Amino acid sequence: MLEKNLAVYPGSYDPLTNGHIDIIERGLKIFDKIIVAVLKNPAKTYLFSLEERQQILRSIFKDPQKIEIDHFEGLLVDYVNRKGINTVVRGLRAISDFEIEFQMAMMNRKIEPRIETIFFVPSDAYSFLSSKLVKEIYQLGGEVGSMVPQIVDLKLKEKFRQQK
Ligand code: ADP
Repeated sequence: MLEKNLAVYPGSYDPLTNGHIDIIERGLKIFDKIIVAVLKNPAKTYLFSLEERQQILRSIFKDPQKIEIDHFEGLLVDYVNRKGINTVVRGLRAISDFEIEFQMAMMNRKIEPRIETIFFVPSDAYSFLSSKLVKEIYQLGGEVGSMVPQIVDLKLKEKFRQQK
């Protein structure tokens, strides 16, 4: 039996930002439960290991009945099928996200027509925020504590202190 009120929110979360949290909170207005699925792509280099990325998420979201933290490797549709989920949640920031998100949603639909992708638009405070930008700022010695959870702020400072 497929669970109707369950959705998966896949992503790299390298690291988690307040933009991701905003999308998860909006998602919970519609879905009973969201599985935050952290992607492990062996072809990609991450700043935070899979374990670190999941640990950060687990320290923020403590109710597994509502928000479950998981990970996956390979095709999202395979993961979604394994879990028996109908819906994929993604975030749409400024126009730049549209093309790639549209391509991905269409491709996933081609492989598995059953799956629907639902997009949430973040608060405008986060519409220009990305994990990539956050990493660049900390790497250059800056900080954006209002854009990431406190644990991420601390961990980013730690990472870049270690690298110096
Ligand atoms: P991916 O590598 O899958 O893009 P990300 O962790 O960068 O992984 O993003 C996961 C999802 O969250 C994507 O749908 C992305 O558009 C969305 N997202 C990331 N940052 C924000 C933000 N600031 N506001 C809204 N959505 C966001």
